[in-house]
Amino acid sequence: MSETAFEIVPAVETDEAPPHVGTLVLKFGGTSVADPEKIRRVAARLVAAKRAGGRVVGVVSAMGQHTDELVALAREVSPRPEPRELDMLISVGERVSCALVAMAISDLDQQAISLTGSQAGIVTDTVHGKAKIVEVRAPGLARIHQALDEDKIVLVAGFQGVSTDFNITTLGRGGSDTTAVALAAALSADACEIYTDVDGVFTADPRIVPDARKLHAVSYEEMLEMAASGARVLALRSVEFARNHGVKLHVRSTFTEETGTWITEEDERMLEKAMISGVTHTLEEAVYRVEGVDRADLFSALAEAPVSVDTIIQTDGPILFSAPVEDREQTAAVLERLGAKWNEQDGLGKVSVIGAGMKSHPGIAARTFATLRDLGLEPQLVATSPIKIAFYVPQDEVERAVKGLHDAFELSSADAERGHA
Ligand code: ADP
Ligand code: ASP
Ligand code: MG
Repeated sequence: MSETAFEIVPAVETDEAPPHVGTLVLKFGGTSVADPEKIRRVAARLVAAKRAGGRVVGVVSAMGQHTDELVALAREVSPRPEPRELDMLISVGERVSCALVAMAISDLDQQAISLTGSQAGIVTDTVHGKAKIVEVRAPGLARIHQALDEDKIVLVAGFQGVSTDFNITTLGRGGSDTTAVALAAALSADACEIYTDVDGVFTADPRIVPDARKLHAVSYEEMLEMAASGARVLALRSVEFARNHGVKLHVRSTFTEETGTWITEEDERMLEKAMISGVTHTLEEAVYRVEGVDRADLFSALAEAPVSVDTIIQTDGPILFSAPVEDREQTAAVLERLGAKWNEQDGLGKVSVIGAGMKSHPGIAARTFATLRDLGLEPQLVATSPIKIAFYVPQDEVERAVKGLHDAFELSSADAERGHA
């Protein structure tokens, strides 16, 4: 099995010719294409973008919960489906929605063509279920350019590609965002617009903090930390890719015309009014406590599995680390194989305070821990980066911690939005 390293910058074959003027990639998430009426609305939106004069590429996710349904179906048939076959199955959801959008576009007297990820040239490594894009290949790109030159709208099925050994792969949950950004980079698009069911990136998940504010602008670094720590509005890899290739991302609502949130290079004006961009959370975290193995052996075995370890906590005693819940089976297999004495701590969630302003303003940690003390909360494990403070608390305390910190950092005030021209 070959896996690409976390930091690698995926190769993207752009045209030798100068970039085509006015190319836009528009991506629509599952809720935006959940039923036939919504599909027709997405088609109308793509046609409007086309008529405004752009070269338009649409990337769509599977309809509503279709991917979940396909995963559940596989598990009804087989308790541990073969990863290759699971990818064959779940990649279908995006083919369905993208063909339907193309049909609806034709009904609006505009030509369209739908392509699978593989036809569009999306080449990945061979890790089924969470493949990384290694290249967007020229023949696929040429096909897209040709269709755009013929005045067509091009629809690409998100979340999938073809591996370097010619199998169909999927890019991990939420992966259609990554397809969209990779195509935007390869086509030298002016911007990549991510249409979703919220108005943009908020100071916290608007589903649990009703007075969270929509951010006007977020830096790539902040968005990377937010995406890595639970703000699922953008898939982590899509943000890495956007940063590495300088793709301007605009997260906005499918259901309104309003401006959403721009993800771009850090700009001093972002930090003038608010040092903190947001408070993010996850409700389920797999935290492992391991004894009896060598640290280096453990982490190299996990890397090989491959399990992407999230947080490692340094203690004198056992080794503590967290890893994605989806990697639970692989992690357990590695720990058993190494003969480790281990257990998984159940029932923990993670809360993170994120903001580029932390780099230059002391006192954020002090305010975080004072707030937790006032709330009567004891953080169990703490991990930091230059722009993040994260800690673990019992699952049923996560919401209280998020709301308390959101208040303490005054993130429901107008200044938190970082509005500037
Ligand atoms: P899509 O299907 O369009 O890809 P997702 O469900 O993947 O949409 O992502 C959108 C969801 O992300 C929102 O409905 C929201 O609940 C959640 N979310 C979590 N944190 C944030 C945040 N900080 N800002 C905006 N949305 C967030
Ligand atoms: N349909 C896939 C998922 O549910 C990919 C996506 O929505 O971006 O994860
Ligand atoms: Mg998503």
